[in-house]
Amino acid sequence: MHTDLVTALDIGGTKIAGALVDGSGTLLVRAQRPTPARESGERVMEAVGEVLAELTASPLWGRASAVGIGSAGPVDASAGTVSPVNVPGWRDFPLVERVSRAAGGLPVELVGDGVAMTAAEHWLGAARGYDNALCMVVSTGVGGGLVLGGTLRPGPSGNAGHIGHISVDLDGDPCPCGSRGCVERIASGPNIARRALEGGWRPGQDGDASAAAVAVAARAGDAVAVASFERAAQALAAGIAATATLVEIDIAVIGGGVAGAGDVLFAPLRSALRRYATLSFVQQLTVTPAVMGNDAGLVGAAAAAFAARAGADGAVPVQV
Ligand SMILES: [Zn+2]
Repeated sequence: MHTDLVTALDIGGTKIAGALVDGSGTLLVRAQRPTPARESGERVMEAVGEVLAELTASPLWGRASAVGIGSAGPVDASAGTVSPVNVPGWRDFPLVERVSRAAGGLPVELVGDGVAMTAAEHWLGAARGYDNALCMVVSTGVGGGLVLGGTLRPGPSGNAGHIGHISVDLDGDPCPCGSRGCVERIASGPNIARRALEGGWRPGQDGDASAAAVAVAARAGDAVAVASFERAAQALAAGIAATATLVEIDIAVIGGGVAGAGDVLFAPLRSALRRYATLSFVQQLTVTPAVMGNDAGLVGAAAAAFAARAGADGAVPVQV
């Protein structure tokens, strides 16, 4: 039978999504379950199994030749294991082996969720046509991935480009990762909200104290809210400038809930980037919002599977 599809899995702390995906990135069949993140590792795997069972029941299943997984991290692609921070039941969990077994022995490609998002934006989104890109997710955490020389670069363990945990404030606040002053500790949604509250900003009558509510206040001119976004933008700009200086990227794509703040984030980000990205070879760097939305994880997992399959066939890997 013609094996022109791949199976994609997007595994996060709130949902486990799956799809059968064709070579143009179209999601032909979908399945989804909530992640029982506070339950045992086996119970979480059961939910993954339910998603896969729905996909294998599809008449299109026979056309799938590989599985791509984008998982919350850290992941260890070389060992085939995952240890997502927000799924405590999974520590060094052998996800690749378990998914391959549930998928009838198909080969499985595992990448971190930031790398998956990057693959999606490069294949069909805002980084399409760029050979050197940093793509980032700024939401509850901050993650990312790299495309260099036209090729996705997940690194040996599948985590390369994890810009959220590079330090941009040498003596800054302790980060849950163990370091100090990480980009995530300054720029994630919860930290934007925390800083606004500490500065005296108060939520409206609906009690919404999220970064999205701080963004609404910033748009209305609230000085504390504006300052909190400016600080986040500064941290992101420093991280992007460091990345560009290190490996020469042409574009930085930013997705995730915090990117939904729009100009409240992007205007100070572009301004700060001019201060940090100073050398001639990084001055032309473009910063732009992601466009792939909620399906980025699935599309990116599919892209990783297509690329791995092409490599295994001895062909030139698909340039995702
Ligand atoms: Zn950190």
